[in-house]
Parts: sequence; structure tokens; C-alpha cells
Amino acid sequence: MATPLIVNVIELLRRPGSTKEVQVSVAASDVSFDDARMTDDDVQVRVHMESLTNGISVRGETTAQWQGECRRCLVPLTRAVTVELDELYQSAPDSPDAYAIENDQINLLPMVRENLLLAIPLGPLCTEDCPGFCPQCGADLRSTTCGCSRPVGDDRWAVLDALKDRLSDREG
Ligand SMILES: [Zn+2]
Ligand SMILES: [Zn+2]
Repeated sequence: MATPLIVNVIELLRRPGSTKEVQVSVAASDVSFDDARMTDDDVQVRVHMESLTNGISVRGETTAQWQGECRRCLVPLTRAVTVELDELYQSAPDSPDAYAIENDQINLLPMVRENLLLAIPLGPLCTEDCPGFCPQCGADLRSTTCGCSRPVGDDRWAVLDALKDRLSDREG
């Protein structure tokens, strides 16, 4: 099935120096993330293509929504991720970083998918300074305080993070 992420570039290939703008919104299901962190929201892609002597440069950005939970306080998160794109497409790729132009077409989909998945944080936080739970009494320190003394300088979240990792290993 044709997707708006497959772009015909025959005119670009014929005329070095020529450019093309692509701005599309694609259903997440069409991107086939195959990743539970990605939501069903549409994925936005906006790129500027330019025909160079050694291929076609594709620059712009893509935005998608992901969901997860704060690794400290476990609150559910839904966030947008935007990735800057700067890629090269070649008819006969001579660089390991280049993508292939096939049948005079550029398929942006694998590149967009790859960039977005790499950009999602592995251990997301609701806020950079989320206090999480007290490692001693378990109080939710976002909404309350507790009387436990915590030695200054200790990584007070290490214990909880390790526990959380163990639990998710068990689940997964
Ligand atoms: Zn949090
Ligand atoms: Zn406490």
C-alpha cells in the first residue's frame, strides 16, 4: 500500500540542486513501530530534500507521542518526542550511514521509525528532579515528606532503581 512516506525523487535525481519539501502526518499504525511505548497518535514528518552530486540530502524533523512511567515515582507519562533529521540517500550507498534510493523512490519510513525509537528515553522521569519514593519508608515524596533521615551524598535512588529494574525483569 502506498504511504505518504514514500517519495518519488525521479525529478530530484535528474536535476542536481533541485529541492522538494515534504510535510506529512502518518498514522502510527502505518509506521508499524512494534513498540508498546508508542501511542496511536499520528506521526508528523517535515523534511527538506535536496539533490546533491552524491545523493539526496534529507533534513527536517519528526514528532511522535510515546508513553511510559516515571522511573522514580511510577506516574504514567505521555510525552512528545521530536527528532532532528539529517540523512543522506544514495542510489548506490557508499557510506554505511546512507539509506538506499530504490526505484527512484525514497522510503522515509524506516529512517523515521529508527530515529524516533532511538530518541525515547530509556529511564524516563516526570521531571528531572522528581523525588520519587523514600527508599526507607516508601512515602511518595512528590506529595508528602517523611521523617526518615537520608545521609547526604548518598545516591538515595539507586536502591529503588535497582529494585524497579529487578521487578521489570521479572515481568518482562
Ligand atoms: Zn516522577
Ligand atoms: Zn521515609
